[in-house]
Amino acid sequence: MSEALRCGYVALVGRPNVGKSTLLNHLLGRKLSITSRKPQTTRYNLLGVITEQHNQVIFVDTPGIHPTNKRVMNRYMVRSATSVLSDVDIVVMVVERTRWTSEDDLVLSHVERAQAPKICVINKIDQLKGRTELLPQMEALGARQIFDEIIPISALRNDGLDLVWQEVVRRLPEGPHLFPADQVTDRSERFIVSEIIREKLMRRLGDEIPHRVSVVIENYQSSDRLVEIDANIFVERDGQKTIIIGRKGALLKSIGQEARHEIEALVGTKVMLRLWVKVKAGWTNDERSLRRLGFE
Ligand code: GDP
Ligand code: MG
Repeated sequence: MSEALRCGYVALVGRPNVGKSTLLNHLLGRKLSITSRKPQTTRYNLLGVITEQHNQVIFVDTPGIHPTNKRVMNRYMVRSATSVLSDVDIVVMVVERTRWTSEDDLVLSHVERAQAPKICVINKIDQLKGRTELLPQMEALGARQIFDEIIPISALRNDGLDLVWQEVVRRLPEGPHLFPADQVTDRSERFIVSEIIREKLMRRLGDEIPHRVSVVIENYQSSDRLVEIDANIFVERDGQKTIIIGRKGALLKSIGQEARHEIEALVGTKVMLRLWVKVKAGWTNDERSLRRLGFE
């Protein structure tokens, strides 16, 4: 036990759809020491904590450049994003090989101002014919001299994630761990699963049913080879139920598939996921229901 403990906050940033969640879940899934993933603390969105031997990495989100906050991108949010970025120990920005947008520029402008070491992860390289296709973007990014490392990966195929982990860990400051290493509870896994389902729902529904959806895991049984999950999706009205289910169940089916892939990456086994949409009229107003759904 001669090696010193290391622990640090790592901001995981990037515009929507570049693959941040996939990267994080695959990192979490391989390490299997999820300690917690809480929604919205005061300054950070805690995404996940990975502890491996003497290293603990606390992944956080920044409020101001969070996809769902795009519309409230006012001065306050800009300032707070910048201040979070100046608080963390390492910044990891995820971009896509195939597409660079003005949103990437926006994120980059925040990242640029941070003092912490910066790592750029170019994701989705599995979509390339050959690695040489990466060169123009790597050169362009390199020329800007913002990043300490530029790492091509495929989060989906688990390609390059070891290198990301190594480069992050190498830059962690020395310090005691802030979370217990052994808190791999069923509850946190259930919670993450419900968040994954909720995220897929939100992504597909857009603004149609804003924040009126709640996901509750009714049954969660895991064995070595399979995790079986039943999840209830609670909505307020029949109309909302119809929308979520979609034509001949198509929308619910594809939401379920997307969620299942992500959960499989997380837990490392096959997953059987059953989703049920239920109408619970006025549940947001009903205290008892709220408590049952886990809000205190
Ligand atoms: P986020 O919005 O940045 O969190 O992005 P997600 O992790 O939700 O990913 C957005 C989409 O990109 C999903 O459909 C993923 O399956 C897909 N995706 C993520 N990583 C990869 C990758 O390495 N290769 C490919 N082909 N698709 C990916
Ligand atoms: Mg995401």
